Amino acid sequence: MQYRKETGLTSRIIIVGAGIAGLSLAQWLTRFGIEFEIIEQSPSERRSPHGIVLPFNAVRELKTLGLFEQLQEEYFDFWKLTYCGIGGKEIKSAILTQAPFENEQFIAVREQQLLTALRTGLEKKIRYNTRLTDVDHEEDGVRISCTNELLNGEYDLIVAADGTRSQTRLKNFEGQTAVQDHHISCWRVLLNYPEHGLQPMHMIGPVSQFVIYPVSNDTLYCYAHVHEAPDGEHVADGAMLEEKGRLSPDPKENLRRIFARYGGPVPEILSRLGDAAIIPDRLQSVAEPCFFDRRIAFIGDAAHGCSPLIQQGAAMALADSRCLADALAMQQTDQALATYRDRREAQTQRIARASDAPLDSVLTGPGGMKQLFYSLKLRLFGPDNVRAWRRIATERPFQSANKSPGS
Ligand SMILES: Cc1cc2nc3c(=O)[nH]c(=O)nc-3n(C[C@H](O)[C@H](O)[C@H](O)COP(=O)(O)OP(=O)(O)OC[C@H]3O[C@@H](n4cnc5c(N)ncnc54)[C@H](O)[C@@H]3O)c2cc1C
Repeated sequence: MQYRKETGLTSRIIIVGAGIAGLSLAQWLTRFGIEFEIIEQSPSERRSPHGIVLPFNAVRELKTLGLFEQLQEEYFDFWKLTYCGIGGKEIKSAILTQAPFENEQFIAVREQQLLTALRTGLEKKIRYNTRLTDVDHEEDGVRISCTNELLNGEYDLIVAADGTRSQTRLKNFEGQTAVQDHHISCWRVLLNYPEHGLQPMHMIGPVSQFVIYPVSNDTLYCYAHVHEAPDGEHVADGAMLEEKGRLSPDPKENLRRIFARYGGPVPEILSRLGDAAIIPDRLQSVAEPCFFDRRIAFIGDAAHGCSPLIQQGAAMALADSRCLADALAMQQTDQALATYRDRREAQTQRIARASDAPLDSVLTGPGGMKQLFYSLKLRLFGPDNVRAWRRIATERPFQSANKSPGS
């Protein structure tokens, strides 16, 4: 097996962003002996006070990368998902130990734990406090400006791993619509809850959802969202329309108001919010997926960011990185970029469509017909995420041409 160094395919590569995509690419390039720089705008290791759900294909990618052990068993294995209405009554459950998932692992973990695992061995390599500010295409490369002058100049390849709201995309495709907003406000929180005894649970209302995944026996990861009405206001499920209102700057108040009529474990969870850090966000997707433009490659959310409703963001970022590194190890840069796009385009577009599709079944207001159809579909065909995972499990995954040296 010949690697880039041995074949004389050396080049200057800079990765923008040290999230899941950037770090996993850095790991693969290191394994293939390919030099790179990696910059991250955060002043230090990113603090990520929320959880992340990693279905079987993300777990598989971490194992292939040899970093699953670095999670040090600080995660929650799950094998069953329960779907309920807002009162907590079960609508449907899905078992994840049956075909096509035999021998697969599904986990929920603190995102911080995942990023720490992905940073293994890269601690001194990441240039923090360094933000990309501009890009300019040159004949055989690309010139960048960033906040660390020592890194400014021409590179053979920039890899944009800077998320859905990628600055690299914005600069490169100036004037084009970069993201599509789904008019959904969401919140993520990690909650200390000793001996909670809960299993993963999705509680689904007509315009809102409250999703609970344990990450350990005494910590829960909760994700909650609500749709905006066309007038920009929010309606709480089960609430009278006149109670709708604009969001408060206080995320805790929003959660308590919007999910006030939820049952099951939600009232207890809301009463325990205390000073937990609640991360507010909006659901957005990349308007037009893109894998490369001349000598800029896009990976992870920068390439195809989409809604998290089938929990495929991490798996796609990890698979993009493996695929791009694999191609760069074997081919000249331009050819490698075309190979990367050809191998990843179809699958990521299918997954991005499946991720955004559940957003269609909402926003008719409490009791709407769409919600009725949604419950029926859930009962008949199972949850959207599990149906998507089944399809992914039966697809032929992209196979690496290389084995990493040392693996
Ligand atoms: C609410 C929510 C819940 C989610 N839940 C799940 C889940 O359960 N499971 C799952 O698999 N996925 C989930 N996702 C998706 C998942 O988080 C993303 O797909 C994943 O984080 C993508 O990683 P990334 O590295 O591509 O981008 P990001 O994680 O966004 O990382 C980008 C990095 O680039 C840095 N950066 C940005 N701009 C610059 C710049 N100009 N210069 C330098 N650095 C820069 C940022 O600081 C950041 O560190 C969720 C997403 C959201 C919004």
